[in-house]
Amino acid sequence: MYDLIIKNARIPQGDEMILTNILVKDEKIAGFIDEIDGIEVKEVIDAKGFLTLPGCIDSHTHFMDPGFTHRENFLTGTSGAAAGGVTTIIDMPCCSVPSVRSVSQLENKIEKIRDKAIVDYGFWGGVTGEDVREGWLHNVKEQADYGVIGFKVYMTPSVPTYPRVTDPEMHEAFKAVAETGLPIGIHAENFAMCDYYVKKFQKDGRMDGPAWAEARMELAEKVAIQLGISFAEDTGARLHIVHMSTGIGAKLVKEAKMRGINVTSETCPHYLTLNYKEAMDKYGAFAKIAPPIRAKKDNEELWNGIIDGSVDFIATDHAPYNVESEKDKEGMNIWTAFPGIPGVETMVPIIISEGYNKGRITLSKLVEILSTNAAKHYGIYPKKGSLNIGADADFTIIDLDKEWTIEKEKMYCLAKYTPFDGFKLKGKVDKTLVRGKVVFDESQGITVVEGYGKIIKRQSIQKLDRTIRF
Ligand SMILES: [Zn+2]
Repeated sequence: MYDLIIKNARIPQGDEMILTNILVKDEKIAGFIDEIDGIEVKEVIDAKGFLTLPGCIDSHTHFMDPGFTHRENFLTGTSGAAAGGVTTIIDMPCCSVPSVRSVSQLENKIEKIRDKAIVDYGFWGGVTGEDVREGWLHNVKEQADYGVIGFKVYMTPSVPTYPRVTDPEMHEAFKAVAETGLPIGIHAENFAMCDYYVKKFQKDGRMDGPAWAEARMELAEKVAIQLGISFAEDTGARLHIVHMSTGIGAKLVKEAKMRGINVTSETCPHYLTLNYKEAMDKYGAFAKIAPPIRAKKDNEELWNGIIDGSVDFIATDHAPYNVESEKDKEGMNIWTAFPGIPGVETMVPIIISEGYNKGRITLSKLVEILSTNAAKHYGIYPKKGSLNIGADADFTIIDLDKEWTIEKEKMYCLAKYTPFDGFKLKGKVDKTLVRGKVVFDESQGITVVEGYGKIIKRQSIQKLDRTIRF
């Protein structure tokens, strides 16, 4: 007796799709069969011949809970994930009060959010300049043993409760994280460069949107990535460049991989599809992000980075702010508005539409960058990120032909803004399943109770194949 059959599912097999019926039992994939007549089952769902991917993963979210729940909380954030076809999110350690830099702080966070989640969730561990200065680096191993999937450091200040690292402090952090075998994700922007040029642009009276992107220039990311690569080479740490925004970044990662250095990278839908001149002229602070949206040439170079393997997967850096008090307050300007945008809800359809449907990437690449690679990189594969028998029955079912337009008011996330408002797409999430249960259905919305989502801890240490393809 099976719990569920997903009939008429078109699953990826390399770059081909094959039509099958998926059997689910005890929240796991139990098999694939051609003929379902005579099989005893409690429930049947019709996938209508739509593409059925292993559940997609957003390994970079800031759901702001507990502490900044006027921006987002775990219910609204994971509802957005479900609606966007994301079955597992991995939340960052910085945007909560307290921030997560020890096991007790992580347990405090889990306690506050566990009854809210709609999809499954894992956690990044934290390490800051303060942890280095105060002699708290023992927390790194303790968080790793608890099951965090990696560690995040900031080279530039972001949240006051999560102090940035100086260069030597980052070196100390790399050494501590290297011993755990887990990745260390860096926000790669050189602090002194950003600080100096932002002040200079302000002094010159620049108040236009694009000024933000020009002040926090490509060079600031380039030199930060170069330093990170040098530190990875020195310490053997597994460097991961989060939200890489520039084409030059992809080239640096490629060179480092070819030299055998332990480095990987992710980019976000906005760095692949938007350019700062148009987006920041049109949306101003609602397109303000750190690092900023870049130029058209970066869009193309990052797509090329995905194709050749220098960009390993996609994540969103979902970090929304309150519209009335933090983005659009009376007297606020491009320098004082908070940097960040929602993204978890639009990632999968944007990559389907602009990547796969436009012929930029193959089907196998699509599966890698939306699901498999992040799962492998963070040690949760094949439980997540695979269609193997025995894997969690997480699926993202996509109507590849459906044409639609992103509308900010319709988003599940708490903050109703996005620089993709009005963006036309081909390809939409029809259903999202987590552990054999539909959590989102295009016609019904969210279909499970708050707290359905479960915590996922790192299962093993796994490393991505870093081969560059020519
Ligand atoms: Zn982030």
